[in-house]
Amino acid sequence: MPEPTVPLSERPWEHVARMLDVDSALALVVAEFAPLPAASLSLLEACGLVLAEDVVARDDVPPFCNSAMDGYAVRACDTSEAAWQRPVTLRVVGEIAAGEAKALVVTPGTAVRIMTGAPLPAGADAVVRFEETDNPRPSSDVAAKVEVFHPAKSGDNVREAGEDIAARSVVARRGRLLGPADLGILASVGRPVVAVHRRPVVAIVSTGDEVLDPDEELAPGKIRNSNAYVLAAMARAWGASVSMLGIARDDRAELSARLRAAAAADLIVTSGGVSLGDYDLVKDVLRSEGEVAIWQVRMKPGKPLAFGRIGSTPLLGLPGNPVAAAVSFLLFGRPAIRKMLGHADLEPRFIDVVAGDAIDNRGQRRHFVRVRLEADAAGMLTARSVGEQGAGMLSSLAAANGLLIVPETLEQVQPGTRLQAIALDW
Ligand code: AMP
Ligand code: MG
Repeated sequence: MPEPTVPLSERPWEHVARMLDVDSALALVVAEFAPLPAASLSLLEACGLVLAEDVVARDDVPPFCNSAMDGYAVRACDTSEAAWQRPVTLRVVGEIAAGEAKALVVTPGTAVRIMTGAPLPAGADAVVRFEETDNPRPSSDVAAKVEVFHPAKSGDNVREAGEDIAARSVVARRGRLLGPADLGILASVGRPVVAVHRRPVVAIVSTGDEVLDPDEELAPGKIRNSNAYVLAAMARAWGASVSMLGIARDDRAELSARLRAAAAADLIVTSGGVSLGDYDLVKDVLRSEGEVAIWQVRMKPGKPLAFGRIGSTPLLGLPGNPVAAAVSFLLFGRPAIRKMLGHADLEPRFIDVVAGDAIDNRGQRRHFVRVRLEADAAGMLTARSVGEQGAGMLSSLAAANGLLIVPETLEQVQPGTRLQAIALDW
């Protein structure tokens, strides 16, 4: 059962690391976020973002009745006797191309040569395709004729005004994720700029005296910073823009300065320095710079998690171990980012799978096992462990396309057990 959500501002200060289950931690995190204010963006910039207004069509789409084919605009009743052996002959009184607005009229016994997208002339109610006529060469000759081999029904190859979108109808509602087809609709109804929830900026701060940039030579005791890249790529894939704020040494002044710089973002994400029994500076500095609680979340990989605010900016303090950081960011950072983006569905995509291997899960933690999801002949997905599950083993995260969820209540998973997984399509 998730615990009731108390906003940070009303929460007594948490100095003792609290034990939380994943759902309670998630509820506490999500409650601290709201959709970001709307920004007016041009269509391409708005793609992938969530609409913050209802958009009403100013015009019909198509705006006028027009031909769906290249052919001849006719009165359908004039062609009712037409057959391949006995064509009906009509007098061609003109031609009209897409983009033209000629005042042509189709009277009994006549036709107008017409191109796809051209307005249907008055009097006509159908278009006969070239393929069903003798397709005479276009001519300025007033005596030009066309032979029609096939009877047309009223409405054949005609697109009515507003048949796709009616003027004054709502074409896209607030909350809609704008994709390619939506952009087309907005363009069609004359909306080159729309209000969407602004993209959140996520500031990424890595911590640790041992951490070097990827272009640096290794030295004894040092490792290269992988977290910043994994986390930044995830944030971007979910729709945020990223501000890379580098590596803060385990130094009080440096870390404070970096956190203050990061507070201009919509979300600060740190990695490292939050584990229990780790008396380094990160936790202290987080607490002296803002309201930050350290939690122990019953999950694996992961567990230590810091959450709170630096000034008014929310901060998510992830564990340093690369896979623990990535899984924690997926579970807690993604919903926060999605909520800021204005999405209603914050959850990952859960899929029903069958466990392919036996898995030990002692310790009452929810275990997110790196797996390959493979469909059997019947289409059922089997989740097979991709090997070494250490919290620092990035190679198994790269090899995985899913995280199998072993509930905290399940100590032992037998092969064949039905469980859920999260697809890692980032
Ligand atoms: P910590 O949570 O700071 O105790 O770090 C846990 C483990 O994660 C340690 O082995 C760190 O060296 C490692 N680690 C911390 N930050 C990073 C990083 N940015 N990239 C890769 N590994 C890291
Ligand atoms: Mg550290």
